[in-house]
Amino acid sequence: MKIDFVKARQVFDSRGNPTVEAEVKAGKITERAIVASGASTGSNEAIELRDKEKAFKGRGVLKAVENINKKISPKLKGMDVTQQKEIDKAMIELDGTENKSVLGANAVASVSMAVAKAGAKVQEVPLYEYLGQLAENKKFCLPIPQMNVLNGGKHAGLEHDIQERMIYPFGAKSFFEAMQMSTEIYHSLKALMKKKFGYSAGLIGDEGGFVSSEKDEEKKLELILNAVEETGYSGKVELAIDPASTEFYKNGKYFLGNKIFSAGELVDFYSELAEKFNIYSIEDGMAEEDWKGWNELNEALGNKYQIVGDDLLVTNIKFIERAIKENSCNSLLLKVNQIGSVSESIDSALLAFKNSWTVVVSHRSGETEDSFIADLVVGLGTGQSKFGAPARSDRNAKYNQLLRIEDSMKNSVYGKR
Ligand code: PEP
Ligand code: MG
Repeated sequence: MKIDFVKARQVFDSRGNPTVEAEVKAGKITERAIVASGASTGSNEAIELRDKEKAFKGRGVLKAVENINKKISPKLKGMDVTQQKEIDKAMIELDGTENKSVLGANAVASVSMAVAKAGAKVQEVPLYEYLGQLAENKKFCLPIPQMNVLNGGKHAGLEHDIQERMIYPFGAKSFFEAMQMSTEIYHSLKALMKKKFGYSAGLIGDEGGFVSSEKDEEKKLELILNAVEETGYSGKVELAIDPASTEFYKNGKYFLGNKIFSAGELVDFYSELAEKFNIYSIEDGMAEEDWKGWNELNEALGNKYQIVGDDLLVTNIKFIERAIKENSCNSLLLKVNQIGSVSESIDSALLAFKNSWTVVVSHRSGETEDSFIADLVVGLGTGQSKFGAPARSDRNAKYNQLLRIEDSMKNSVYGKR
């Protein structure tokens, strides 16, 4: 089925910022996708094109929209919509830069995802299965979700703070059960926090998790474990954290809470936290430029815990290769818009798998109703997702799609590590 045209428009994300929606038309098929947007972004991410004009306080995306309508659409017209690799390659060549700064990664990624959705429709298979075909994977599984129940850092208006504290219901038997456990824990946590800090403790951050006025990190993690215990799920839930430490790194030091840490001291701090609070995964424990610190962290904790690279790797093969060579981490956080196309995201996942890393498919803090990444995580069979709290429809769009997928499968598999 040949592409007739691609049409784009400006729509809005969960933070009220403009973002790009692309619509691909191929014969009778019309499919669309909306791109997400980060706040604590890695400096090496592909470029999100913003208009930088008065409208929308500079955050308009009409230039990216125009790039789709005037440049990408004519280029892709007539191409077979099931040729994902060729289509992504054509856009990358049309852009001509390493970081998609001409067309914008927001333009390219939205088209790339819409093309994949249209390809699945042409092949008459579910999107997850189609994405699995692109990755040559047939082992589909529902992910164990890392759910960000206590938001911090840039997503909660806090400085010198760990950004994400997540529950990981590894002991569930199905994704359905994982949702039951997670929502029960989420509501228990809300009640505990309100009891301790008053009514406003129920307010939430960008990813749907609560925001605490508690300053002591240990007390925050303790609250989550109390909620886990109260709901009767101890032994079935571990914790994960994403400090997003680039945000509190300056001149070779880490400014976390009211303390100043060297890389080595921060490794010791994480080690204590992990031991004490049943943490199995630490993402962006070190800053994106502190490659030496990453090596220290992975040397010390990598054989026991999942050490995930987000800002460090930006879903880019170039940085993943360096991290493999330098033994910097053992897991990839995969965000489609960080690299800007479906094919490149799949290549990054395959490189990680090849080197025995784990892969966590992730949302962005600025999300939309698009549930593409739910199908992606099942299709790649990574077994782990990071889509925020089990609340707010921008996050639950993904969880509800995972429930639909699980419901549609005869013998679904939950999680894999
Ligand atoms: C993250 O840091 O993992 C994250 C999801 O945040 P953002 O989208 O703001 O980069
Ligand atoms: Mg992160």
